[in-house]
Amino acid sequence: MNNRIEIAIIGAGLAGLTAAIHLARQGFSVTLFEKNNFPKHKVCGEFISNEVWDYLKTLDLDIESLHPTKINKTLLSTGSGAAIKTNLPLGGFGISRYTLDRYLYQTCLKLGVKIIPSTVVDVLYTDENFIIKTEEGTVYESKIALGSFGKRSNLDLQLKRNFITKKSPWLAVKAHYKLDFPADVVSLHNFEGGYCGVSKVENDTVNICYLVRYETFKKYKNITEFQEMVLSKNPKLKIIFENASLLFDKPLTIGQISFENKPKIENHMLMIGDAAGLIHPLCGNGMAMAIHSAKIASELITDFLHQKISRNQLERNYVNQWNTTFKSRVQFGRLLSRLLLNDWASKIVMKSLLIFPFVLPFIIKKTHGKPI
Ligand SMILES: Cc1cc2nc3c(=O)[nH]c(=O)nc-3n(C[C@H](O)[C@H](O)[C@H](O)COP(=O)(O)OP(=O)(O)OC[C@H]3O[C@@H](n4cnc5c(N)ncnc54)[C@H](O)[C@@H]3O)c2cc1C
Repeated sequence: MNNRIEIAIIGAGLAGLTAAIHLARQGFSVTLFEKNNFPKHKVCGEFISNEVWDYLKTLDLDIESLHPTKINKTLLSTGSGAAIKTNLPLGGFGISRYTLDRYLYQTCLKLGVKIIPSTVVDVLYTDENFIIKTEEGTVYESKIALGSFGKRSNLDLQLKRNFITKKSPWLAVKAHYKLDFPADVVSLHNFEGGYCGVSKVENDTVNICYLVRYETFKKYKNITEFQEMVLSKNPKLKIIFENASLLFDKPLTIGQISFENKPKIENHMLMIGDAAGLIHPLCGNGMAMAIHSAKIASELITDFLHQKISRNQLERNYVNQWNTTFKSRVQFGRLLSRLLLNDWASKIVMKSLLIFPFVLPFIIKKTHGKPI
């Protein structure tokens, strides 16, 4: 016989953990499936927009107790090191995924969320119910299933999602460092084939995280050589790497990062966070989107389970709200990334910004939402 559960959330990253907390606080019984152990470092720039600060408070989450840095300025540099600094219109905070995800996970446990440490290998929808199968062969049956399994998962293959069959040219590298770096600045530095973010998180630790085209990276023997030969051509990054001491055994890497459009509903399952679409990291907005999409989905699921809306309305409203809230910033992020990675275009943009610096906060606003 199948194990009967009320709400199944597949993937305990930021989106899944947030939705679990939101729905558990509404009094629902939540089961969260996660294939990895906690806590864990993740490849991420770890700058979170203030868009979600107040919402996290409404979930009774005390992010302040994790000692995040408060970030209200940004610095951009071109490959040649020409730089522009400005205030961040909304601002944000710096916190490592290790600390944040662990805190949310522990909150889930306190709220009675059931966490199944296993990989989900199949999700079927039949007779108004989801049938969820784990790799051990255990089967669960739920009324609601949320897909929060991140940018790339075995389930994307299982669900035959279009993007998964296309090769992506992107890979990313991240590590923590000791470095004298201002706590209130997130900087973004351009280099051949990619861009690199630098900002401070808790414990006086600096996150350096970059996204690069595989074509550029593969010409070099290893990460150290690549950083010396390519990233350090940008004089700003050269100074950073010369003075930074690595706190990890070695940097973390991930490949095949896709920025393709993805359906927001799969097999009647609402997709949240990166599983619904990933914004270019240069916008520093993916985590806020993961948390915000969890809020939208949780509010609609609450209405559905209280029989205020039908399943059809649940799905339609979710897609509409996702598109209204996120679509334009994802598109703008794509455009910005294209400009930044084109040597010629990025020089023109930077030259224009040096003359008209007041335009930069306007551009940043286009990639961020309003506080929720
Ligand atoms: C290079 C880079 C830099 C970034 N920098 C920033 C930044 O500075 N600021 C920002 O806001 N955003 C940034 N982002 C984006 C941000 O990291 C993501 O948007 C965010 O992590 C999305 O959270 P999520 O919960 O959707 O996915 P994740 O945090 O990836 O969680 C997905 C979870 O699902 C689990 N899972 C997957 N498949 C299964 C399965 N079958 N069964 C069970 N569990 C499963 C995984 O183990 C994982 O724990 C960056 C992204 C990249 C690539």
